[in-house]
Amino acid sequence: MLALLGEAKTPWDVLIIGGGATGLGIAVDAASRGFRTLLLEQHDFAKGTSSRSTKLIHGGLRYLKQGNFRLVRESLHERGLLARNAPHLVSPLAFVIPCYRAGEKAFYRFGLKTYDALSGKLRVGASQGLDPSMVAEHLPTIRTQGLRGGVLYWDGQFDDARLAIALARTAVDLGACVLNYFPVTALTKGSGRINGVVARDGELNREFTIPARTVINATGVFTDSIRAMDLRQELPSVAPSRGAHIVLDGSFLPGKSALMIPNTEDKRVLFAIPWHGHVVVGTTDTAVQEINLEPHPSRSEIEFLLHHAGLYLSRKPGPDDILSTFAGLRPLAQAASQRNTALLPRDHIITVSPSGMISVTGGKWTTYRHMAEETLDRAIQVAGLPVRPCTTAALPVHGSTLSPTAGNLRFASYGSDASLLLELEQADPQLKERLHPALPYFAVEVVWEVRNGMARTVEDILARRTRSLFLNARASIEAAPKVARLMADALQKNQEWEQRQVAAFTALAQNYLPSGLEAPHSPISSFQS
Ligand SMILES: Cc1cc2nc3c(=O)[nH]c(=O)nc-3n(C[C@H](O)[C@H](O)[C@H](O)COP(=O)(O)OP(=O)(O)OC[C@H]3O[C@@H](n4cnc5c(N)ncnc54)[C@H](O)[C@@H]3O)c2cc1C
Repeated sequence: MLALLGEAKTPWDVLIIGGGATGLGIAVDAASRGFRTLLLEQHDFAKGTSSRSTKLIHGGLRYLKQGNFRLVRESLHERGLLARNAPHLVSPLAFVIPCYRAGEKAFYRFGLKTYDALSGKLRVGASQGLDPSMVAEHLPTIRTQGLRGGVLYWDGQFDDARLAIALARTAVDLGACVLNYFPVTALTKGSGRINGVVARDGELNREFTIPARTVINATGVFTDSIRAMDLRQELPSVAPSRGAHIVLDGSFLPGKSALMIPNTEDKRVLFAIPWHGHVVVGTTDTAVQEINLEPHPSRSEIEFLLHHAGLYLSRKPGPDDILSTFAGLRPLAQAASQRNTALLPRDHIITVSPSGMISVTGGKWTTYRHMAEETLDRAIQVAGLPVRPCTTAALPVHGSTLSPTAGNLRFASYGSDASLLLELEQADPQLKERLHPALPYFAVEVVWEVRNGMARTVEDILARRTRSLFLNARASIEAAPKVARLMADALQKNQEWEQRQVAAFTALAQNYLPSGLEAPHSPISSFQS
């Protein structure tokens, strides 16, 4: 990638700042339309919000509740496209709403019929009413006392950071240059128009001035810091809101269905979702002032999640049951001066500054492709690029294969690359070792991701190429030395590098242990390979 950057003799057609869902989606779109495309990410791909979602590819029932039919229909359409284009990373998931009050079941049945209808031809499955025994079949650990029945509906589930890496690889397959650890530090202008950026190679500490015909700001909650490089005085365009999650052992919600809690004490929805053999419970919606790359759930958010999970599960989870906690900041497009971020729409806004920089803010993971299409259409107009139609609605994501588990169940999320991981393992049987008994990951993945997934640090491997840190923070700390060793071999680094990496990761992982609560031990989880 660095060589590709060095070889560029003319301005890039499209330069994107930010390597989350939004920026990567735009890179794929731009490259697939044949534009010379460069994406710069200050840290690792998906380091920000895009690795910290609730892992749903969904229409969003809460938006239905708010009467935002347009957003729900658009999201459901995108859900269908993504399931088709990335079947190795997105899968259908049944959600069950348990009903304990009279009239509740009929109410949700009606709402979900609308949800089904809005899905159109790309429907995942039809919703249905359940009697109490069927609810218990889907959710074996549900509290059955007072249970009157439930409603089942379908949505999609995914691995957010792995989809981000797959999008980065798709963009590269299409000829784009994408660089992580490459922060943009300034914008360059000529005759009042933005004509490029100044960026720093974070590893070699070298500065580059990079010309481009159009610059797109896709930096999520950081969007205003890039806008400030362009315009001195600007009203904030983003109202950040923190969403926290806790992760529990899979035994808290065995089975394949997710629990949907339709009405929390703060009038929101909450999910408990089976994910990689564990259970993710989330999320909260807390307006925040401070924006950083490592937001941390507050004690009260964790208590809120434990409390609500405990209301519905027969075995109440306690602080000691938490294996990991993580939080993300929603880049909600600022609408007027609303203080309650739960009321802000999860819609996106595209703006063009007087100097021609395009900023895209808001949206959801689910709608990244559509946002990218609209942003690129706008960029073509603004920069006078040749008009070429968008083709991403039918563009397979890297690794896409008709049979997601074709290679091997262990490596299903690698899609068509799974067979290459198996070959690598066969050549070096030591790579068959697990990274940790409580984690569903293997040594071969470390080597593969260093060689092919642009992983540069132990954190890249444990947080985003594998999801170890999000599944079990303590286990991932214990796995760090092994990962550092494997990476040092692959990257030809010395022992000092290994030690620094382990120390840095161990310090970071403290953020994923429940705040102020005693760190739980890492039980050998019920995960089966
Ligand atoms: C708690 C929570 C749960 C969510 N759950 C879901 C869900 O289940 N389903 C769904 O569809 N959506 C969900 N979302 C929304 C979704 O995750 C976000 O809309 C999406 O990830 C935003 O992506 P982004 O690329 O705009 O921002 P980000 O992922 O934050 O990416 C912006 C990137 O810009 C980089 N950057 C910043 N400054 C610079 C610079 N100077 N130079 C270079 N790079 C820079 C950052 O490092 C960052 O990586 C959720 C959001 C949250 C917070």
